[in-house]
Amino acid sequence: MHDFSQHLAELAAHSLRRTRRVVDGAQGPMLDADGAPCLAFCSNDYLGLANHPEIAAAAMAAAGEYGVGAGASALISGHSRAHEQLEQELAAFTGMPRALYFSNGYMANIGIIGALVGAGDAVFVDRLCHASLIDGVRLSGAGLRVFAHNDTARLEQVLARSKAPRKLVVTDAVFSMDGDLAPLAELAAICARHGAWLLADDAHGLGVLGPEGRGSLAHAGVNAPHVICMGTLGKAAGVAGAFAAGDATLIEWIMQRARTYMFTTANPPLLAAATSASLRIIVRDQWRRTHLGELAGLLRQGLAGLPWTLLPSPSAIQPLIVGGNADARALAQRLRELGIWAPAICPPTVPKGSARLRISLSALHTREHVAQLIGALRRIAGEMPRLATGATQ
Ligand SMILES: *Cc1c(COP(=O)(O)O)cnc(C)c1O
Repeated sequence: MHDFSQHLAELAAHSLRRTRRVVDGAQGPMLDADGAPCLAFCSNDYLGLANHPEIAAAAMAAAGEYGVGAGASALISGHSRAHEQLEQELAAFTGMPRALYFSNGYMANIGIIGALVGAGDAVFVDRLCHASLIDGVRLSGAGLRVFAHNDTARLEQVLARSKAPRKLVVTDAVFSMDGDLAPLAELAAICARHGAWLLADDAHGLGVLGPEGRGSLAHAGVNAPHVICMGTLGKAAGVAGAFAAGDATLIEWIMQRARTYMFTTANPPLLAAATSASLRIIVRDQWRRTHLGELAGLLRQGLAGLPWTLLPSPSAIQPLIVGGNADARALAQRLRELGIWAPAICPPTVPKGSARLRISLSALHTREHVAQLIGALRRIAGEMPRLATGATQ
């Protein structure tokens, strides 16, 4: 028998054992975590829609109409009118011919990649891509080729040399731990030159970037039959689920072949109805994106001159690079004592030596909330000169 209690002790000894805090009540800038109130900069609820009354009302109305469970997989009897309508709205929202609704982003990525490629094919993946994309490539049986972050010149070289019958390039559109953007227009052009598909995972751009929040591809002005958009609906959209959008034939093929679409019970129809309500608010409430931009500007100004560097990021993800793991954890811990929740992210989630505080902003944060975070970080920098100079790295 494997001794998992010993493995767990080892994880704990290396500060790698994860724990959870129990949150009471709804998501928002102020969270009640483990019974204590805190100011939260840890959520992906970028537009502040996770507790929006119109969306909750849409969910409740749909519960009245459809009940709770979907009853079966979408290809049997689980594809409700609410799901059908949402798919059409997602296609219109992204400006793509067709969309397919998945249970979540993890499953969407695994399903899409496995439908497009298999053994003998090649998938080219940015080094900082999300774990679900890597897992999707591994499960597909296709060869995994990792290229350096946003290194389009290198990508073009390896694509040109590849003899694989099917080629797929995979990238986060907004990188989840850095907040920077993939050069989607350039990637789409490279893929077109080398007969490859481009899969852009827009988990962090949808709702935040592009005109009316229509996402990173709209932001970059990219729309072509060889480009597939994967969007998640549990982050800025504030609900749950995900989708693939693109060329109608490609999406039909994904529906026929994606195992994570076929072999799972459809999400509750009430989630689809709630997501439809969310899409309407995303398009309508430009102020949420404008305000996010203002908050990011305030944060950047307020943190100037601190020993830690805020990465340049046009998104709601504002990472503060600390360096050493213990330093990043100490900083997060001290913030927590001051009533602020911003998670430390350490290797292997991010490259060695780049442990950071992943500060994420929400449209429901006020200027005062951001000022409070700035004040706390400035205070800690003063208190902890050893930490601030990175002496423990
Ligand atoms: C969160 C995330 C996913 C997974 O989406 P879920 O709907 O939460 O399963 C996929 N890709 C990226 C880049 C993500 O950040």
